[in-house]
Amino acid sequence: MINIFSIITETIFPHYCYGCHDIMVNYEKVLCSKCFVELNRSYSIYDSNNDLSNRVSIYFPVKNAVSLLNYNKECLASNLIHSFKYREDIIIGKYLTKILCNELKDKEWIKEIDYIIPLPLHWIRTLKRGFNQSEVIAKTVSKYFSIEMKTNCIRRIRNNKSQTSMSKLQRWSNVENIFKLKNSAILEGKHILLVDDLVTTGASLNSCIKTLSKVKDINISVLILGQTSH
Ligand SMILES: [Zn+2]
Repeated sequence: MINIFSIITETIFPHYCYGCHDIMVNYEKVLCSKCFVELNRSYSIYDSNNDLSNRVSIYFPVKNAVSLLNYNKECLASNLIHSFKYREDIIIGKYLTKILCNELKDKEWIKEIDYIIPLPLHWIRTLKRGFNQSEVIAKTVSKYFSIEMKTNCIRRIRNNKSQTSMSKLQRWSNVENIFKLKNSAILEGKHILLVDDLVTTGASLNSCIKTLSKVKDINISVLILGQTSH
């Protein structure tokens, strides 16, 4: 039966796809079906020895590393993550995170996670941007799996320069010793899930993992939304 009510609401209050900006039908959320299919998935979740694992294990071997999307300049994934990060379209971040959570829910290792930790932004950067995009992702994962999020165990102590125009080498030296542990005793012997939006060189994430690895008997897994190819 045609739902007259939904036809009326779609006509009066049309909602638009965040990908192609076409009008969506009522059951579509955030992305239309066409854009959803077009998302360039990394499928790293199905490969325990994936490329991302190697990229984030430079100083310390992470247990698991998963991403949702492959990220290339000017593709749908990059437009979406850019809108989430810089235009504050938080709904996009939550939507993409939930897709990843749906895939993760049957994995045994996710049930072993004790705490979820978003990659910290420096407080000045958070103030300028208005929010920490990693925290939005972490909060969504925390809520989905009912696992506690911790934001007071590691801090970013240096507001390092933006990395976008730097060479690979500059990026690595730019992020050296930028994180500091705080209240880290509660992380001893725990398995934590470190969360970020995007991995390019992996310099910041590896620096954060290096600092976290100083905690006694810690296990670290990583979840991100997008990863660039090398
Ligand atoms: Zn679309």
